[in-house]
Amino acid sequence: MKILVPVKRVVDYNVKIRVKADGSGVELANIKMSMNPFDEIAVEEALRLKEAGKASEVIAVSIGPVKTDETIRTALAMGADRGIWVKTEEAGIEPLTVAKLLKAIIAAEGPSLVILGKQAIDDDCNQTGQMLAALLGWPQATFASKIVVGEGTVDVTREIDGGLQTLRLALPAVLTTDLRLNEPRYASLPNIMKAKKKPIEEKSAAELGVDVAPRLEILSTSEPSGRTGGIKLASAAELVAHLKTAGVL
Ligand code: AMP
Repeated sequence: MKILVPVKRVVDYNVKIRVKADGSGVELANIKMSMNPFDEIAVEEALRLKEAGKASEVIAVSIGPVKTDETIRTALAMGADRGIWVKTEEAGIEPLTVAKLLKAIIAAEGPSLVILGKQAIDDDCNQTGQMLAALLGWPQATFASKIVVGEGTVDVTREIDGGLQTLRLALPAVLTTDLRLNEPRYASLPNIMKAKKKPIEEKSAAELGVDVAPRLEILSTSEPSGRTGGIKLASAAELVAHLKTAGVL
């Protein structure tokens, strides 16, 4: 079976985000970009399934403007077999549009599993996997912390508020990864060299029949307000008194 892994190019998690002077968005010029960390976990899980003989091919897909192929190349260096790049003019394609583009790719590729990140750390939308499953009419399991592929089914343990929930889904299915699913591997130097020769197929949104025009308008973007200074307290009794005054207790 084929596994499709959508990987998003995002601002690296170590970068301190700066808002553009005109408030129209965040500064992206000369900023370190990386693969969304939850997508690294998705690639790792797909590779482990392939290494366990449960999958035959791992395909990394990304949607974005110039340099997005670098992110696909990272997935190939980790071990994915090939890539698909839907090249767009702009970054920040909205989740519903991403889901429609992925649906068109899935119609052509016929994967049995699609493993996405639970959310992209730039927009924190946590929408794409759910929208994709709805558009496809496939079962979905989000926030996976364990994935076991069976015969025509997949058992997924999910992290929920009250603990862990295990679901059995019929394949094909859409899964999204949570932090504790695995620890992604680093690409070794020989694999980085090998990845340069792996194919990345380029597609346009127009040939997939999807209009990428935004449906949402960003009205403003602002920095979080700075922290106001704290105080040191001498005893637990003093802390309780302060919490009572603040109405917390
Ligand atoms: P979001 O719904 O934006 O929080 O994103 C959830 C997941 O959808 C990400 O972790 C990726 O797996 C996938 N995804 C979102 N945007 C893209 C994109 N532009 N290209 C590829 N995958 C994406």
